[in-house]
Amino acid sequence: METCLFCRIASGDVSADIVYEDDAVLAFNDVNPKAPEHILIIPREHIATLNDLDDAHASLMGRLFLVAKHIAGQQGFDEPGYRTVVNCNPQAGQSVFHVHMHVLAGRLMGWPPG
Ligand code: AMP
Repeated sequence: METCLFCRIASGDVSADIVYEDDAVLAFNDVNPKAPEHILIIPREHIATLNDLDDAHASLMGRLFLVAKHIAGQQGFDEPGYRTVVNCNPQAGQSVFHVHMHVLAGRLMGWPPG
């Protein structure tokens, strides 16, 4: 989608601080970090929200978690811990309508969130 910010990052039209990429998934540092480490993991395929997923996306969405684990190990925050978050629609705080997983680390996370 030409107008989707994260599609434009995935295609290279918009620059981002990329930390991981493969044929299906891209990960980059959040431009406005909410923790010392704040990485976004996106599928290259445009999927607007979690509500748009179907069974065909099961492996792709599982891949986001495997990439989160890979990055956590590579950047050394796997053992202290990290949080993964996917916001769905405005009431949950979604502002970019291309599915993305937030990976947050480097500080104590409060609970409940929000
Ligand atoms: P959400 O509010 O869950 O939709 O998350 C969108 C995230 O995208 C926010 O944390 C923003 O800071 C982040 N963001 C917006 N524009 C960019 C960008 N150009 N590069 C990296 N992160 C971005």
